[in-house]
Amino acid sequence: MTQVALARKYRPKRFADLIGQEHVAMGLAGAVGKNRVAHAYLLTGPRGVGKTTAARILAMALNCERRKQADDSGEPCGECDSCTRTWSGSATLDVIEIDAASNRGVDDARDLRERAMYAASGANRHKVYIVDEAHMLTREAWNALLKILEEPPPQVVFVFATTDPQKIANAAAPVLSRLQRFDFRRLGPTAVADRLAHVAKQEGIATDADALPLIARVAAGGMRDALSLLDQALVFGDGKVTAAGVRAALGLIDDETYAELLGMLAERRSVDVFPFVARLVESGADLSEFVNGAGEVLRLLMLRIVGGADAGAGSEAARAAVEKYAHAFTAGDVLRLLKLLAECENAIRRSPNARLHVETLLLQWTLMDRTVELSEVMEAMGGSPRTARPEPQRQAPVTLRDVEAKAPIPEPITGDLSLSAVQARWPEVLNAVAKKNRMLREALAHAAPAALADDTLHLAVDGMGDVDGLDQRRPVIAEAVAQVTGRKLRITIGAAAGAAPVAAPEPVRLDPKGDRDERLRLYRAKDKSLDTAADLLDLELTE
Ligand SMILES: [Zn+2]
Repeated sequence: MTQVALARKYRPKRFADLIGQEHVAMGLAGAVGKNRVAHAYLLTGPRGVGKTTAARILAMALNCERRKQADDSGEPCGECDSCTRTWSGSATLDVIEIDAASNRGVDDARDLRERAMYAASGANRHKVYIVDEAHMLTREAWNALLKILEEPPPQVVFVFATTDPQKIANAAAPVLSRLQRFDFRRLGPTAVADRLAHVAKQEGIATDADALPLIARVAAGGMRDALSLLDQALVFGDGKVTAAGVRAALGLIDDETYAELLGMLAERRSVDVFPFVARLVESGADLSEFVNGAGEVLRLLMLRIVGGADAGAGSEAARAAVEKYAHAFTAGDVLRLLKLLAECENAIRRSPNARLHVETLLLQWTLMDRTVELSEVMEAMGGSPRTARPEPQRQAPVTLRDVEAKAPIPEPITGDLSLSAVQARWPEVLNAVAKKNRMLREALAHAAPAALADDTLHLAVDGMGDVDGLDQRRPVIAEAVAQVTGRKLRITIGAAAGAAPVAAPEPVRLDPKGDRDERLRLYRAKDKSLDTAADLLDLELTE
């Protein structure tokens, strides 16, 4: 087992070791090697990508006792007394680290100014001030610093590190022109995983293929975080780093859970949503992490459906689950799932009631097909579902056609449309319906085109069929008919002559709100789980 934390042990000691920040490393090493070091630098970038480390390496290089004998690479030796002390952050006369987050006041800046007047401790040495979290400095502090930077004392170098350069621009724009700026990049997950693999190899740590990409994903581009996470995973894995160990250590959700989620969505089991979320919460899962993971799985699902190639993506278990349920989704379905996810992601992260947001999201997901049809019903009946208030979610279904436009488009019928022509093309209509809704396709097995007049196509339903159910889905049928025949026909549904008697049709209401309530009542009466869900959440079912 490692005694020293990996993040510390593998913190770079040379410019060349700054993974993923080669542009910065070359700039700084070149300046040192050519003796052209600026008086002040601004290092920007997300946390944990090596800004402070780069500042320390610069300080090491400027004061390294052995560098003179070396070439002009600008690299510190990393081993002499001066290098060692600077690297470890212990106090030296010439390298002073200041955390601006706790030294914000103008007094500290004045103090800094006083101290900067003192020269470095030796002729060949530089005084280096490393100011971390520099965006926390006040305007007054920057003003004091500006005076120093206008007439910089010899052999004094300032390095400001910040995650938020815009704040500095707002507080002290004139200072920025005095700073030489380097922007650090967030590392890609592959670069992080590669570096982790390198470290694991150096340390003789066995790792599973799935484990390191998981850590890289959670570290979100920060190498320091990634190494700390590797440390944690080691403790859990008893010396070996496995995907299960990483999940346990980091509170990640296992792939079984995502497989279960996909099954729930595929089969639209809204009744399972509450027990599912309850189990997640009881297991101590981080809900925003769950939502992240769900997004990853949906992305895999989308790749599988549109045939994109990303062979390395996802764990084996996640890919197996996607394979199992891919048949139940169209690309349009997944786009809409992802859109709903994107809409509530922030709320889940920020809200103290993340659980309710997750429950709502899962309910929206499991009910999605029905709710979209509901709005289509209203549109087809002439009511505008957008009258109540602006609802950005309502634009979702548009993307469906974009993606599915790839499918071969049937030849529209030219000339007059006859019933026999529609009957001849009926199998194509059924295929078009199947792409949108397999259940509806099954239900349509009991219906057949029986009459066509005045752009109204009447479908007769046999004694086994569900007249009401089909009636509610007329818009989907009309769309499929339009797709195949090129004609926008009104659809009517009725029991075929001789079929078993059916309940009298509901009176049609043209008032959209009334119609919506009526439809809602019907849906809720038919689906108990929907009823419960709607009551619990006071759910807006038109979404
Ligand atoms: Zn040295």
